Order: sequence, then C-alpha cells, then structure tokens
Amino acid sequence: MSGNATVPGADQARVTETITALRESGARWARRPVDERINVLLAWREQLETHRTDLVDALAKATGRLPISNMEVDSVLAGIDRCARWGRELIVGDQHRPNSNPDVALIQAPVPLGVVGAIAPWNFPLQLALIDAVPALIAGCTVVVKPSELTPDFVPVLQQTIAAVPELAEVLAIIEGGPKIGQQIVAEADAVCFTGSVDTGRAVAAAAAARFIPAFLELGGKDAAIVTAGADLDVASAGILWGSTANTGQSCMSLERVYVERPVADEFTDRLLSRAAKVTVAYDGPGTGDIGRFIDPRQADVVTAQIEDAVAKGAQVRTGGTVTEHNGAFFLPPTVLTHVDHSMRVLTEETFGPVIPVMAVDSADEAVELANATDYGLSAAVFGPREQALAIAGRLFAGGVSINDVCLTGMVPEGEKQAFKNSGLGPSRMGPESITRFLHKRVLLQRRQPRIQPWWYTEEA
Ligand code: NAD
Repeated sequence: MSGNATVPGADQARVTETITALRESGARWARRPVDERINVLLAWREQLETHRTDLVDALAKATGRLPISNMEVDSVLAGIDRCARWGRELIVGDQHRPNSNPDVALIQAPVPLGVVGAIAPWNFPLQLALIDAVPALIAGCTVVVKPSELTPDFVPVLQQTIAAVPELAEVLAIIEGGPKIGQQIVAEADAVCFTGSVDTGRAVAAAAAARFIPAFLELGGKDAAIVTAGADLDVASAGILWGSTANTGQSCMSLERVYVERPVADEFTDRLLSRAAKVTVAYDGPGTGDIGRFIDPRQADVVTAQIEDAVAKGAQVRTGGTVTEHNGAFFLPPTVLTHVDHSMRVLTEETFGPVIPVMAVDSADEAVELANATDYGLSAAVFGPREQALAIAGRLFAGGVSINDVCLTGMVPEGEKQAFKNSGLGPSRMGPESITRFLHKRVLLQRRQPRIQPWWYTEEA
C-alpha cells in the first residue's frame, strides 16, 4: 500500500481494499518491538517538520486562521513525542504478575485492537485527524483516517509526509470522503475513534455496537464557566473571553455559557465588554486579526438563529451579535449576551461560535446546578478563591475542569479524562490511557506443574 495511502474520492471498495491491506501489514506491525514502531513515528515526525510550512498554509487556507494552524502542527509533533515517551514505559511486552494462586503463573499479554478507523471533524482538521492515530500506532494498531470532507486541503501534504516513510505508509492510510466513507469504515474496522457531532456519534455508536467493536466517541459540548464573587475579575474576564472566542468558538471545549454571582455580575460583564472591544477580526484573511471566519459557512446560520432566539426571549446583545460577509466568508465578532436564561437555546445547545451568554446567579450552588443542567459533560472552568473554586470544580459533572484558567485540558495532556453524558463514550483520549485503550487485555494463565485436578470428574487426583 506504500505510496497509495491517500485514496481521493474513495468508494466503498477502496475502503475494503485499504482495510484489508492494513489488516495484513498489521500482524507484522503488532509484532515489532515498540521501540521500532516509535522510530518509524519519529521518522515521520521529521517529515512533518520538513513540510511544516506547507501544512500550515493548507490549514490556514481551509480554516481562515493562522496561529491556530501553527498550533495544530505543534500539537501533532508534541503528541508524537509524548506517546513515544509513554509508549516505551507502557508497552513492555508480556508481564508476569503476582497472583493469589502460587501454582499458576499469571502473564498479562495485551493484544492491539487491529485496524482502527479514525473519523475527524473540520474544526481542527489536522490535529483531530491524528490525535487518535498516533497512540494507536504506538500501541501496535494500524489506522485508517478519514478527515472531514469540509477541510481537505492539508491531505495531499500529509500524504507526502506518510509516503516519505514507507514503513509508516503500510500501517497508516488516509481516505478522503464524506459520511458514506465514514459508515463503511465503521462497518469494517476493528475499532473506531470518532470525533464529531452528537447525532453522528450516536449513529456511529449504534453501528459499532451492532458489530461489537469498540467505539471511542468525542462529541459536542456546552462548557460552563462559573465566576464566584471572590474571583479575580480581570483574570476571569480575560480567560473566559479567550476560552469562548479562540478559534471563533469552533472548539469542543469552548466556554459557551457563564454563570456569575450577582454581586460581581455587572463588574465582570463590564470588564468582559472592554476586553471584547479590543479583539480584532481577520476580515482580510488568515493572520490579519485575532479571530477568523466561520470554517463551515452553515455554522454562521446556526449561531445567528441562536442569537435571534435569545433576543426574542429577552436577551440583550451587549456587543457583536451580527454576522457579516467579507469576500465570501462569514464573520462574527465576540458577542456578549446578558439577561439570558435556560429557556434560550444559546444556553442549552452547542453554539460553536464566539458567543458568550452571561447569566447572573444568586449563589455558587445555583451556578453548579445550572452548569450541570445540560446533556453535555465535556469540560468546564471555575474562577474563585483557591479552596472554594476547587470545591466547586469537584461538584461539576464534566470530564475536565480548569480552575482559575480555561481550556487547560487541551494544554495539560497528561490528565486522563472522559467525556460525560452525550459528550462521548469510551476511555480517556488523554494521558497514558490514550495508548492503553488500543490494547485488548489478555491474560495467559500457566499451570506451573501440569497434573489432573481433583475437580476434573476423576478419582486419579
Ligand atoms: P460531524 O458529526 O458532522 O462529522 C464528523 C465526521 O463524521 C466527518 O468526517 C463526517 O464525514 C463523518 N460522518 C458523517 N456521518 C457519518 C456516519 N454516519 N458514519 C461515520 N462517519 C460519518 O461533525 P462536524 O460538524 O464535522 O464537527 C463538529 C462537531 O465535532 C461539534 O459538535 C464539536 O463539538 C465536535 N467536536 C468534538 C471534539 C471532542 O474532542 N469532543 C473535538 C472537536 C469537535
């Protein structure tokens, strides 16, 4: 399959062909010592470095933002380094373990899951296409990646980097295409990692369940931020502004609703507004402002509909609020809404835009109750005095909570976390478990001295 890792416009037969080839090379790959697998990935890392500029240019073209495109490449490189380090510690071959029966040797002998299908969304096209692929490859799996059909520009460059490392091209394939190709991958792979919307995730989970294959799902979110009366309002307003609007809010861990204790709600909002006024919009293309265009133009309609729904129910738009078109692209400056409540969709549905609804609450308890009143459970943030903020964080039903900061789960990859409720399914994508989740646990139990056992329907024992 070397040199053929990308299959543009792939049809279902090509999925079958690709997965069959991956399954064949997978047996060899799984047998190789982990150090050899790591060396193949490190050789690929060099290629990614070499093609860095082309990758960033392609990502910037597809998404309209520059610094985050750089960050995507950095994150893939850091992921390879991290998984290489963890892989050496975690994958140490068969392990003898003490056990309660001295006559039996217990050997843990894990087995890679096989061919992993990784299906990715458009909001971080490169990073999310590879976030599961790297640990899966280190664990000894082979991987077929299906990037989002909405942001395919980086695929030819990525393919070049893979083809330059022939041993990698035998175990990592990229297939372009839309939902049909995704469905076919789920129908044939041995495990599936899916990042995307809740609705598609549900369909993927059902299809995977019908085949009894593992489905690791990372889906949408409606992350809450809580600001208590004792919080440092400068830090809270600056952090929440960035955490809500970075990548134009098109991030699963974007902060999408803010609960502020009433005594400081006006002060917090004023500081948020004065900072929001300084955020620039990249109307003239990647790198010309702090936040870029909507990557998928259809998202602009979703966000506008939520703002209109909120305004119709009494919300006040304090800044922003109107999508404008420039050179065929759609932009929305940071948008702050007040006088909001949970009757409004902007407080309950994923927005995926730079919108910050700020709701005043009577107490920290009310803030916790509202933060947990959601179908999602990806992450959250709490601002307040150290001990109080920590206690509040411990009451939030979400997989990762940043305290006196935002989006730390994306910056501290050692922490293991799961997506709660409709935000996902499966083990942690972060931390050492990011690798071990790709291994079937197998135990070999060896009777030290073979003999007929007394319970074997025999009198010989
Ligand atoms: P989407 O669900 O529309 O599509 C995601 C991927 O699934 C695409 O590659 C698409 O082609 C493929 N697909 C579509 N139907 C399929 C099917 N039936 N079977 C298999 N594959 C299928 O999502 P999107 O709009 O591309 O991404 C945005 C969503 O992703 C948001 O909800 C966001 O919160 C979520 N997301 C989650 C995380 C996370 O880590 N939790 C990270 C980023 C984005």
